[in-house]
Amino acid sequence: MRVDFSPPYIDQSVVDQVVDTLKSGWITTGNKVKLLESEIKSYTGSQSVLCVNSWTSGAIMMLRWLGLKPGDEVIIPAYTYAATALAVMHAGGIPVMVDICDDFNISLTEIRNAITPKTKAIIPVDVAGLPCDYKEIMQLVNESEVKAKFIPTSKIQEQLNRILVLIDAAHSFGGKYNDKNIGVDADLTIFSLHAVKNLTTAEGGAICINMPLPFDNSNLYEELRSMSMNCQSKDAYAKSIAGCWKYDIVGFGMKINMPDVNAAIGLAQLRKFMKLLSKRKKISNHYQESFSKYKWAILPTQYDAVKESAYHVFPLRIKDITEVQRDEIISEISKLDIATNVHYIPLPMFSFFKESGYDISNYPNSYKNFACEISLPIYPQLTEEEVDFVIKSVKESYEKVVLNR
Ligand SMILES: *Cc1c(COP(=O)(O)O)cnc(C)c1O
Repeated sequence: MRVDFSPPYIDQSVVDQVVDTLKSGWITTGNKVKLLESEIKSYTGSQSVLCVNSWTSGAIMMLRWLGLKPGDEVIIPAYTYAATALAVMHAGGIPVMVDICDDFNISLTEIRNAITPKTKAIIPVDVAGLPCDYKEIMQLVNESEVKAKFIPTSKIQEQLNRILVLIDAAHSFGGKYNDKNIGVDADLTIFSLHAVKNLTTAEGGAICINMPLPFDNSNLYEELRSMSMNCQSKDAYAKSIAGCWKYDIVGFGMKINMPDVNAAIGLAQLRKFMKLLSKRKKISNHYQESFSKYKWAILPTQYDAVKESAYHVFPLRIKDITEVQRDEIISEISKLDIATNVHYIPLPMFSFFKESGYDISNYPNSYKNFACEISLPIYPQLTEEEVDFVIKSVKESYEKVVLNR
């Protein structure tokens, strides 16, 4: 039985939305994007939502908007996808990597220890879909001693007058915090709408804008929307009207807008998102129940008193195995035609970051979690039979590799 890792959910409603867009005569940024933004806004309760062509480009733009100067620092976890660090570097900042906790998410203590007068932003990552401790992180950046340390290097930073918190919610669309959908709990929350994520537009990102006063989130939306389209004073649609050819370039923008063809995919998916999310949850519960029988299985946190996962990844860990044994188990599982993954290879283990001076020995918890982790398939199309096959295969592969059975 072949089991894929994370194929996109494409049903007739998705096909219909895309075809409708293709036939409408308008395929790039237009009404479908506006609709998707407004539906994500209702879903999350966010004050403004701007769709762009990826999480990465959205994060780069927001950090450029924040106005990083050479030497400015942004705190991120060492345990994340490379884009979190690369976005900081593309915006001219230095990623300051810190270690994680047992639930895979960034450690609050490590954040506190890493703050310097150069810290301009923190990017907590909701690994596997589990929301970080948003409230504690927001409280930390608002502490008077932490604010007293803050030295603004741009007008936006001056207005904010503290460290910005940008949530990397690439995994957590559909996650909950205090019984509410996430997206509103920090200054900025960016979702990835890449093909493998909970909600997709093939490639895409959605920026939830919830800046505190004196910022006006509706004005900010207009400003950032323009910034995502080269800071051109008229968008392609306004310019396409006969006689409306004149425009101005009013700032230093990027070209990262989302096309309507892409928005159409997300729109159709979002309209049945409750169903898609509950299927993920059901699969996650099934894994939890089945693996809880085995002493060697370390099960991921799915929820606690304040938060609930978006069930994007099922990060199974295996007790007392080495990285080599983990790799062997994955290889055994793959022989059975099941695709698994590892979330994540800690950034300091990649050549590029090693050469930039990061050293994995400074991140013992990241390494420990990485070395024994296997991400199992979890997505709405997965059948119960396939889930059972995955469970059986993991168990047999473990026994073969570790117990030599
Ligand atoms: C997928 C992912 C990204 C990048 O998203 P793109 O939309 O592909 O740019 C960033 N951070 C994390 C944690 C991710 O999993």
